Amino acid sequence: MAKYSKECCTFCGHPEHQVGMLLSGINGLICSDCAERANEMFKESKRVAKSEFSINEFPRPKDIKNFLDQYVIGQDDAKRYLSVAVYNHYKRLMQNKTDDEVEIEKSNIIIVGATGTGKTLLAKTVARMLKVPFAIVDATVLTEAGYVGEDIESILTRLLQVADYKVEEAERGIVFIDEIDKIARKSDNPSITRDVSGEGVQQGLLKLLEGSIVNVPPQGGRKHPEQKLTPVDTKDILFICGGAFDGIEKKIAQRMNTQVIGFTSNVKNKQIDKNNLLQYIAPQDLKSFGLIPEIIGRLPILTYLNPLDRTTLRNILTEPKNSIIKQYIKIFEMVDNVKLSFDEEVLEYIVNKAIEFKLGARGLRSITEDIMMDAMFEIPSSEQKELHITLEYAKEKIEKNDALSA
Ligand code: ADP
Repeated sequence: MAKYSKECCTFCGHPEHQVGMLLSGINGLICSDCAERANEMFKESKRVAKSEFSINEFPRPKDIKNFLDQYVIGQDDAKRYLSVAVYNHYKRLMQNKTDDEVEIEKSNIIIVGATGTGKTLLAKTVARMLKVPFAIVDATVLTEAGYVGEDIESILTRLLQVADYKVEEAERGIVFIDEIDKIARKSDNPSITRDVSGEGVQQGLLKLLEGSIVNVPPQGGRKHPEQKLTPVDTKDILFICGGAFDGIEKKIAQRMNTQVIGFTSNVKNKQIDKNNLLQYIAPQDLKSFGLIPEIIGRLPILTYLNPLDRTTLRNILTEPKNSIIKQYIKIFEMVDNVKLSFDEEVLEYIVNKAIEFKLGARGLRSITEDIMMDAMFEIPSSEQKELHITLEYAKEKIEKNDALSA
């Protein structure tokens, strides 16, 4: 492509001997100086486009929470924290850092809650209304693959993919890291020299949370060792971490007991709700559980999810915009035009079974599926246009299944 010519640059008019090199196009020539300047101008226009990211386009925290309310039952505290963090993330992205002295720091979030209480659902629902790329990754794969550190980068692979490999877009995205508790240090003994638990992974993760240039394998994993790595700056990426932290209640209880005994306690006069200790979670509990202080420091917003009680489970079944029951009604209505309805007792029965099987909200779906399976198979080939599910029918289907699996 490049060739030397006796002609002049079409843009600045300088002859070849003054500019060193001229590149030829179809209808003209460009010198290296003009090409460089053009490159700068492109970069600048991109920067301007980025700062035109107007806050007016973004939902306010209350709007975000209202949206979450349509899909997630309860969990008000977590919803409020999440809404504010996402809104402030937008503000950070808007901030013109060059001439502003007050730089807003990133507010990465950590959500602690038992499995099946809605951590992923919250993250996914937030993603629905966002105008930035959003990826969900699982921290457990990091431990499985070993803790040499190189796999940490693959956390960003998913984000790059969601952003269609547009690095600038990915650099202002949000990543939900699930099961963060699985990389906790298993032993409290600091004298162990060999890291057989998660501390190495935590150190690697720290680099990402802090904000640094990370070389990301665009296709992920180690399957493609030949791939060219893409540098991604994590400075503006918001990280939301979630984990069940099984057994952390004990650490909370221990801490609260010592506080209550101590003179400086301000909790001692308050009634402690022993059935839901997670609501009192504090950063030091995460440390006792095995997260390193540096990681905790980089996740300044700590919130929790409530366990799902009977009423919540009952509401989950019918209230959300795409609740399980609404989904089945839709399935029967589509194509086959069958009107599906349930006795209230059936809904109570499904909740009871989910509690009995200790399956939480996840169980609601599989139990309903077991009840509906035969009908979903038979009805499309029949003339039937209405189906009402009674308690008797539901029990029969579940008991049949129980017998089969026994
Ligand atoms: P976690 O990530 O905390 O393990 P999930 O978000 O995957 O749990 O929840 C599992 C399923 O349970 C979801 O798909 C959803 O249908 C249901 N669920 C859990 N909590 C709620 C909730 N608070 N509101 C509505 N549905 C919920």
